[in-house]
Amino acid sequence: MSGIFIEHSECTGCGLCRFSCPSGAIELKDIAQVDAAICTLCGLCVDSCPQGAIRLKKEKAETAADLTPWKGVWVFAEQKQGQPVSVVLELLSKGRELADSLKQPLSAVLLGGGEAACSLLGRHGADMVYLCSCPGLQLPDEQTYLPVLAALVREHKPSILLFGATGFGRSLAPRLAAHLKTGLTADCTGLEIDAETSLLKQTRPAFGGNLMATIVCASRRPQMATVRPGVFPAVDKGVPGAKIIPVPEPDPIKLLVRLLSEETAGQAESIAAAPFILSVGRGIGNQKNLKLAQELAKRLGAQLGASRPLVEEGWLPYHHQIGQTGCSVAPRLLMTFGISGAVQHLAGIGGAQCIVAVNSDPEAPIVAAAHYAVVGDCQEILREMLAKLDSVK
Ligand code: FAD
Repeated sequence: MSGIFIEHSECTGCGLCRFSCPSGAIELKDIAQVDAAICTLCGLCVDSCPQGAIRLKKEKAETAADLTPWKGVWVFAEQKQGQPVSVVLELLSKGRELADSLKQPLSAVLLGGGEAACSLLGRHGADMVYLCSCPGLQLPDEQTYLPVLAALVREHKPSILLFGATGFGRSLAPRLAAHLKTGLTADCTGLEIDAETSLLKQTRPAFGGNLMATIVCASRRPQMATVRPGVFPAVDKGVPGAKIIPVPEPDPIKLLVRLLSEETAGQAESIAAAPFILSVGRGIGNQKNLKLAQELAKRLGAQLGASRPLVEEGWLPYHHQIGQTGCSVAPRLLMTFGISGAVQHLAGIGGAQCIVAVNSDPEAPIVAAAHYAVVGDCQEILREMLAKLDSVK
C-alpha cells in the first residue's frame, strides 16, 4: 500500500518534517505522526528528516493501457428539438482540423435527433454520424444519455471526444469521464494536435486566467474536452455526405426526473452568436460616453459587448460581458473601444475573424491581438464615426 511510514525507533521528534509538510498532514505527539487522509505523498518530509526515519512507499503504477485501438475524433452533437445546438457545428469545424492532422475520421454522435440533422453535421465536417433516433432520448438527460454514450465509446474507441460547454455538456461530460476513468479538460480555448506525440493539446486559462495551461491526457482514452460556444468559428463546407451509422435503441431506463413543462429563461439576448460586435472597455471613461458606443452599435447593426469592469460598474448587464467569466464570441467583425486586452478578455475573443481595436496605448495587448489597430482617443473616434454617419444620411 502507498503511504508515508515513520520508523518510530529512529524519529527524534525534532519537528522538521512538520514544517516541511505543505498539507499540514504531520502532527507531533512526542514523535511524528502522519494523517493519511490529508497526506498527498509529495515526499517533502522524507527529504527534511535528518535521521532518515521517514520512508515513502508508492505502489507500482498500473500497467499502461494499450492505446493503439483508440482512433478518430468524436463530437457529441447535443440537440434541441432535433437540431444540433450551435457549438456542435463549431466543434465539428475544429474537429475536422484535428482529424485531418491525425489522418483519422471525424464523427458526430447524435442522440434523440433525426436523419434531417445529419446533413448539417456532414456539412460542418463529420464523416460519420452515430445516430440513435429513439424518442426516449429526445430530451437531454444525463441518466439516459450516459449508458448509451459510454457503450458507444467502449465499442468504437474514439481517441478524442469533444463536448460543448453548455449547461448539459458541462453536466454530462464529467460524468462520462469519471465513468470511463479518463481525463477531461473543461472550457478549453485552444485545441491542437501535437506534431510529435499526436496527443491532443488542450489549452485553457488557469490560475484566475493569469496564465494559459496546455494539458494533455497521455495515458487514458478518450481525451475529453469541453469548449464554450463561440470559441471556434463554424465552417459550413456545403457538402453534406456524412455516413449515418444507426445506434440500437437502448433498454428503457426508469427515470428519476420527469419534465413537466419548459419555460424560456429571461429576455436577455446572448451576443455569443452575433456576427458583428462593437465592444467597449474602461477607456470609454464614463457612463455618458457609453451612450456613444450604444448609438453607434445600433446604427451599424452591431451587438454591444463589454469588458468585465463595465459590467461590474453596473453600466451594462452581464450578458454583454465577453471573456473568461463572460461569454465567448466568434463574430466576423469585432470592434473594440478602450479595451486593454487582458488575458481573461482575450480568452473570449479567440474566434473573432477580424478584430479592429481602438486604443490610446499602442502597447496595449489588444493592439497585438488585433488585425487592425487605431491608436487614438476612443471617445473622439466614436463621435467622429457618428458624425460621419450623420453626414451620409
Ligand atoms: P483596462 O484594463 O483598464 O483598460 C482600459 C484600456 O483603455 C487601456 O488599454 C487604455 O490604454 C485604454 N484607454 C484609456 N483611455 C482611452 C481613451 N480615451 N481612448 C482609447 N483608449 C483608452 N475581464 C473581461 O473583460 N472579461 C472577463 O470575462 C474577465 N474575467 C476575469 C476573470 C478573472 C478570474 C479575473 C481575475 C479577471 C477577469 N477579467 C475579465 C478582468 C481583466 O483582468 C481586466 O481587468 C479587464 O478585462 C480590463 O478591462 P478593460 O480592458 O476595459 O480595462
